[in-house]
Amino acid sequence: MSTAGEHEQGTATSSNNTLGSEQRPLRVAIVGSGPSGFFTAQALLKAGISVHVDIFERLPTPYGLVRTGVAPDHQKIKSVSKVFERIAANDACHFWGNVTIGEDIAVDELRRHYDAVVFAQGAQTDRRLNIPGEDLPGSYTATEFVAWYNGHPDYVDRQFDLSSETVAVIGQGNVAVDVCRILAKTPDELKTTDIAAHALEQLAESRVKTIYMIGRRGPVQAKFTHLELLELDDLADAEPIVDRAELELEPASWDDLKRNSGAEVERVYESLKRIAYEEHPPRARQIHIVFRRKPLRIVGGEHVEGLEIERTRLVSEGTRVRAEGTGETEVIPCGIVFRSVGYLGVPLPGVPFDEENGVIPNRSGRVLENGAVLPGVYTAGWIKRGPTGIIGTNRADAKETVEALLEDLPSLTPCAEPDSTQVARHFEYTGRRIVSFDDWTRIDREEMRRGEEASKIREKFVNVMDMLHLIEKTKMEPSP
Ligand code: NAP
Repeated sequence: MSTAGEHEQGTATSSNNTLGSEQRPLRVAIVGSGPSGFFTAQALLKAGISVHVDIFERLPTPYGLVRTGVAPDHQKIKSVSKVFERIAANDACHFWGNVTIGEDIAVDELRRHYDAVVFAQGAQTDRRLNIPGEDLPGSYTATEFVAWYNGHPDYVDRQFDLSSETVAVIGQGNVAVDVCRILAKTPDELKTTDIAAHALEQLAESRVKTIYMIGRRGPVQAKFTHLELLELDDLADAEPIVDRAELELEPASWDDLKRNSGAEVERVYESLKRIAYEEHPPRARQIHIVFRRKPLRIVGGEHVEGLEIERTRLVSEGTRVRAEGTGETEVIPCGIVFRSVGYLGVPLPGVPFDEENGVIPNRSGRVLENGAVLPGVYTAGWIKRGPTGIIGTNRADAKETVEALLEDLPSLTPCAEPDSTQVARHFEYTGRRIVSFDDWTRIDREEMRRGEEASKIREKFVNVMDMLHLIEKTKMEPSP
């Protein structure tokens, strides 16, 4: 246990054997190594107490959605991993990759070795639409498509049939925009990114020409941000199309716009207007941004053949604007549907869960069981608040959780076995191969090397066994 760096700052004042003192550092396990996990670690390391932080991750690779969710052509956003690298470099912070909490080690077992556990595993699945035809071949979730093109090992074998010329994307959040953009880009626009090789290959064969991005509400209620929208207007051989008539606002939307004057909503609306009135040279692919249509049914027998939608009218309900069906329906003929209606958290054995909202019930990060605080158990990120916000949102969110934890420090019950070597022994005994941060840097270096060879930013490993073999192989090689 080191007292290096930020961690050292607060230790001088602690002199007794209480949690957080030099003699008895506070031991925290963080479940999940995405942005919320790393920002939680950062807040703990800056807290001015002596801490030992172990971050557990299901994959051998860290950074969660920064690696497997952020689009490959958004490298600037992905560069936040440099911040996480610096956090991981702190001697008080340790990465335990390739471990599934609840499978490789039970939550109760974890609690025997840590004074506090913070669940920050994110939202791992997608919301369902609950409409007929949702599971027809050719109907996919955006989350699986995103994970596939980002080389997530669990999604490598997914097949996306891109032989149809028309695609319907349901939802108008930033994930829907990512999906439309990746479908619309030329291979040349993608080939130097860190997109998975299998995805680049299949996208190069794609026959997709017409993409509909469909929102059940209007232009003022679209969830995407204006910078992401403008990226659609800056593609090599594709153009966004907005019907001017759809930008006319009903009273409910005017009220909404007035309420959000000067905010992102206004910038989005202005950008949509600009796009609608722009003259485009004809391009190979069109992205139609369509408003006030709700999905009713995915049509087809053996495969998707169309999407039945219903026109909506927007009505105010307090400060919210709701879409109401008008009874007027139509079918968009298409061979592919992507459902992009939000991520959803999944329960972890031994941890309270709110099924309705897909989150861990909590108050400011303190986990609640039947309404009462569960001592020593905390949560951060999407599994705490739901799948909203940008990466930076997780910094403030994690800070709130760590503040709650520090407030509780005097009353926390010290764990029974404050020793990470016992945890390591558990995995030795069960035969689980742990991937350390040093191991990950071996994977990282090799991916960068392969990337250089292929004139890409990075060529990802997409198979866990290949990653583990690489680690073993490089460990046997003499150091450079
Ligand atoms: P989101 O922003 O919540 O968007 C979900 C979309 O699905 C909304 O348009 C929503 O419409 C629609 N929807 C939900 N249920 C529906 C239903 N039953 N029928 C029809 N439409 C339905 O979610 P997301 O796009 O998955 O993004 C998740 C978070 O990640 C967001 O905070 C996003 O900004 C962030 N993100 C950021 C970036 C970036 O910064 N570049 C990239 C990707 C993701 P309603 O509004 O009517 O509910």
